Amino acid sequence: MELKSLLGGVWCGGPQAQTPIVSGLDGATVAHASTAGLDRVEALRFAREVGGPTLRAMTFAARAAWVGQLGKAIYTHREALLDLSTATYGATRGDGKFDIDGASGTMAAFAAIGAKLGDVRVLFDGEPEAMGRSARFVGQHLQVPREGVGIHINAFNFPAWGMAEKLAVCLLAGVPALVKPALATAPVAFRIVQIWHEAGLIPPGTISLLCAGAGDLLDGVAAQDVVAFTGSSHTAAQIRSHARVTALGVRVNVEADSLNAAILGPDVADGDVTFDMFLADIVRDLTQKAGQKCTAIRRVFVPAALVPTVGEALQDALSRVGVGPASTADTRVGALPTLAQHEDVASGIAALAAESTVLASCDAPVPEAGFYVAPRVFLANADAVLVHEREVFGPVATVLPYDGTAAALIDGVRKGGGGLVASVYTDDPAWAGEVLAGIAPWHGRVHWGSVKVADQSPGPGTVLPTLVHGGPGKAGNGEELGGLRGLSLYLHRVAVQADRALLDRAVQAGWGAT
Ligand code: NAP
Repeated sequence: MELKSLLGGVWCGGPQAQTPIVSGLDGATVAHASTAGLDRVEALRFAREVGGPTLRAMTFAARAAWVGQLGKAIYTHREALLDLSTATYGATRGDGKFDIDGASGTMAAFAAIGAKLGDVRVLFDGEPEAMGRSARFVGQHLQVPREGVGIHINAFNFPAWGMAEKLAVCLLAGVPALVKPALATAPVAFRIVQIWHEAGLIPPGTISLLCAGAGDLLDGVAAQDVVAFTGSSHTAAQIRSHARVTALGVRVNVEADSLNAAILGPDVADGDVTFDMFLADIVRDLTQKAGQKCTAIRRVFVPAALVPTVGEALQDALSRVGVGPASTADTRVGALPTLAQHEDVASGIAALAAESTVLASCDAPVPEAGFYVAPRVFLANADAVLVHEREVFGPVATVLPYDGTAAALIDGVRKGGGGLVASVYTDDPAWAGEVLAGIAPWHGRVHWGSVKVADQSPGPGTVLPTLVHGGPGKAGNGEELGGLRGLSLYLHRVAVQADRALLDRAVQAGWGAT
């Protein structure tokens, strides 16, 4: 498979300067990214000057319908994309579905959300504010599309969903996008964009794709652009401090590392529905996507007296887990996509092991070829530090005993420095309230597992189109999705002080909207 880039409205790349992409299944080369002669800066200009006006001429409802078509095209090619996910990066069928169906589902959700905005090109934001003595002089906030490009730099773990969740919001807002997928899993993103292009769903410059390293991409940013990044804190820091990004004050959104916490309340006992839910969520996050979800549980806070019970239950569950290629019937844990990931997880496990003991592990044989890791759960020593600092991006979590008091627990959770999601398992609303108040400022989302929602909960690991995704501090301090809230990243809010009747007429003249 040869991956080209869709830049300036045409497929670019050639046989020179090819970067190999290997399969997590066995390390064999499965694709090449053709990286020669790509003009990233010109591609941004083309998107800004050709794609932008096309999108701004459409109404919110028209753009929503288009986003819906993009989602449907993914769904139409679902089976082939699932096979491609397995063949190119070793996803199990379940993991592939999580990514591919997440992509089509998110686009469908934003098609529905956007349709409600109607045939308008500008959004009225709130009610008019009184400015003078009469009701005529008002201040009205408007939201208008930014006249730049959404530069989407994505992580390797969700090549389809990660692309779709950023695109759906950006395109609905009326802003063209340039997507730079992580090379390790780029074949899936490439194929999706190719499907859209073949179906005539990409007006020139509205969606661009860069299947290559970032190179000098950020040298081409302009003041109205938005950089939306998902990946490591290290790369995030490089992007934030890029000279042109800083000089122009370019808007940057970061989704980075997160040491997500799961918290077992002191009221929950072995055998309770809430206890089972807690266990199921941990095991799901250790196995699904080989533990490589940004929202996966990394730190498990357990009342000290319950640690042996939790350890036995986890050991029982993990002993029934298979690790290997998707084609093997009992496989629940698939491959990591690259050798670099494999080595990174191995070094993270060694680092955590130095300040903890193994509480539970999967003892299934792990194939020698390919990049596989068996799940394990550590029990942290009392003075453990790294567990709050280093995210091991694989099937690994650490149990931290606490004394059952909310204060000690909150203190421990906050040591993670800010996370995407925390999950609290308790049936005691008073305790939950105390914990919620203590951890809410430190997280983008809090998932409260209780007996009341046990039969409907997807667990903390699923990012939903209607809820915000992002987290303060270490998690990058960004925010995406959250339904209409997500549009704010790509819309500019302006306050206009004017005569109310005249303003309505001016808005009609300027944007064809009332
Ligand atoms: P990474 O090295 O930071 O790569 C992420 C993306 O940034 C890739 O597309 C990469 O391209 C690109 N990139 C690398 N260097 C760049 C630079 N100097 N300028 C611009 N772009 C650059 O991250 P990773 O190690 O692949 O991803 C794993 C991390 O992502 C984990 O720590 C995980 O927590 C985090 N993550 C967070 C979320 C979330 O939603 N918060 C979701 C998924 C993953 P190349 O592939 O070409 O190098």
